[in-house]
Amino acid sequence: LEAKEEFSHKTLAMDVMRPRRSDPPLTVLTQDSMTVEDVEAVVSETTYSGYPVVVSKESQRLVGFVLRRDLIISIETARKKQEGIVSSSLIYFTDHSPPLPPSSPSTLKLRNILDLSPFTVTDQTPMEIVVDIFRKLGLRQCLVTHNGKLLGIITKKDVLKHIAQMANQDPDSILFN
Ligand code: ADP
Repeated sequence: LEAKEEFSHKTLAMDVMRPRRSDPPLTVLTQDSMTVEDVEAVVSETTYSGYPVVVSKESQRLVGFVLRRDLIISIETARKKQEGIVSSSLIYFTDHSPPLPPSSPSTLKLRNILDLSPFTVTDQTPMEIVVDIFRKLGLRQCLVTHNGKLLGIITKKDVLKHIAQMANQDPDSILFN
């Protein structure tokens, strides 16, 4: 095989990431436009270990990554202990609360649980390299971007499944042991 042809057969991050083409879009949170109730709904309707936080649904610019368990604990604690936190309270992950009308309920700042530099790769990154990064950095998940926009996520389990699949199909292709 020519080098170029060989490259075109390689599995890329975009082939392994979720969502798949036919799946519903990635479940994300926005940095300053969702309420306590909105976020609670996301957490109860999905079982993912974490959620990417984006500037806005339209922009899909990545801001960070928040773990499900940290969200649950922080919201529960705020509802019990923080004055004025109600279902319609706005949650923000930014430095400052966005400007709101004076009559708005108290806002809930969750910047302290946001991982501001989650690991990312581009959709064209060969899986061989992604596997290597997971191994070397001990990642739990990695986000996938294209032109700076968030496209998908690859978890450790996704990587392990990919490795198992490669091993089944073609034992010679496991170059990364
Ligand atoms: P695991 O892969 O260990 O089961 P998760 O429960 O977080 O971890 O993810 C389950 C599946 O859903 C994985 O295939 C993963 O790629 C995908 N996934 C993880 N987080 C999200 C998300 N926020 N939105 C959509 N899919 C996700």
